[in-house]
Amino acid sequence: MTDRIGLEEARELWVNASDEELKRLAQGVRARWHQPDRATYMVMRIINYTNVCVAQCDYCAFYVLPNQDGGYVLSREDVFAKIDELVEFGGDLVAFNGGFNPRLPLDYYCDLFASVRERYGDRVEFYALTIAEFVFLADRAGLSYADAAARLRDAGVHWVTGGGSEILTEDFRARHAKWKYTVADYFEAQRAIVESGMKTTATMVIGFDETLEERLEHLQRTRDFQDETGGLFSFLCWTYKPYGTAFGGREIVAREYWRHIALSRIFLDNIPHIRTSVLTQNEDAFRALDYGADDFDLPIEDEVTQKAGATIDLDLEGLLAIPRALGYRVEYRRAERPAALAS
Ligand code: SF4
Repeated sequence: MTDRIGLEEARELWVNASDEELKRLAQGVRARWHQPDRATYMVMRIINYTNVCVAQCDYCAFYVLPNQDGGYVLSREDVFAKIDELVEFGGDLVAFNGGFNPRLPLDYYCDLFASVRERYGDRVEFYALTIAEFVFLADRAGLSYADAAARLRDAGVHWVTGGGSEILTEDFRARHAKWKYTVADYFEAQRAIVESGMKTTATMVIGFDETLEERLEHLQRTRDFQDETGGLFSFLCWTYKPYGTAFGGREIVAREYWRHIALSRIFLDNIPHIRTSVLTQNEDAFRALDYGADDFDLPIEDEVTQKAGATIDLDLEGLLAIPRALGYRVEYRRAERPAALAS
């Protein structure tokens, strides 16, 4: 095999390679970036600041429409209380994730993020929004992505993560999320984030009705973007939770997830970190370390996936015992301030 595999080789590996072969190849790429027996983790909380959303993705069990009962927007005090609780758990990373709420102006976000930065400084890092939410609020504000990114950066934001990508093909979005922006929008916005000096990540969700070709297209687009920008710190893949969603369906088995992590590690040879999802795979997530992953979160809350059937174990030491038993040295990793925004 050449150093970098193409789509045809990826297809061939997925269809014909044994688990052992995939593991061996993935571990080879992993070893270019990381010590083979070391894994890193973070303790984090996803703060769902609003559940009001107009996107109506059919795989989502979280949202309510603007005029339906049950919608909420968290106050600044609610957010601070959640962050304080995270700090008590020993965590220092927050990921803000909500819906496309047409009643929240850009100022709401800038004020919230500036107040979090002011109160916690660099003791707590936060992922402000996903790319999908960023696209929505930039459009609502009538700003270019570059101008919207500058507003967030000036409010103290360091990271806008690659969430909201699910499967990055236009067909997939037309089938399931036609008001969630196109793939072209997604990458244009993410490029603006990178060019603003903020950091970003790549994500992917598998287990809907996506084809192998769609999974490969997602990986190819992600690798191309990284070749062009170098802005992706990590790639996190999680699995679809179908409970309570309009689309429904069934969960994929853990082995399929592990094999996909291996294929991702092999294909995305230009992204430093491959992250495995404890949030959606629970204890099975740790086996993905053998398939090329090197990093994971221990989340203490995420209403979006919990509404769709995810369960969260707060016995963090009990969870860490699992990768240790698999032979890994696990070390806590702090989210870093991007070099371009060094104070
Ligand atoms: S997945 Fe996100 S964008 Fe889609 S309906 Fe749910 S909250 Fe809205």
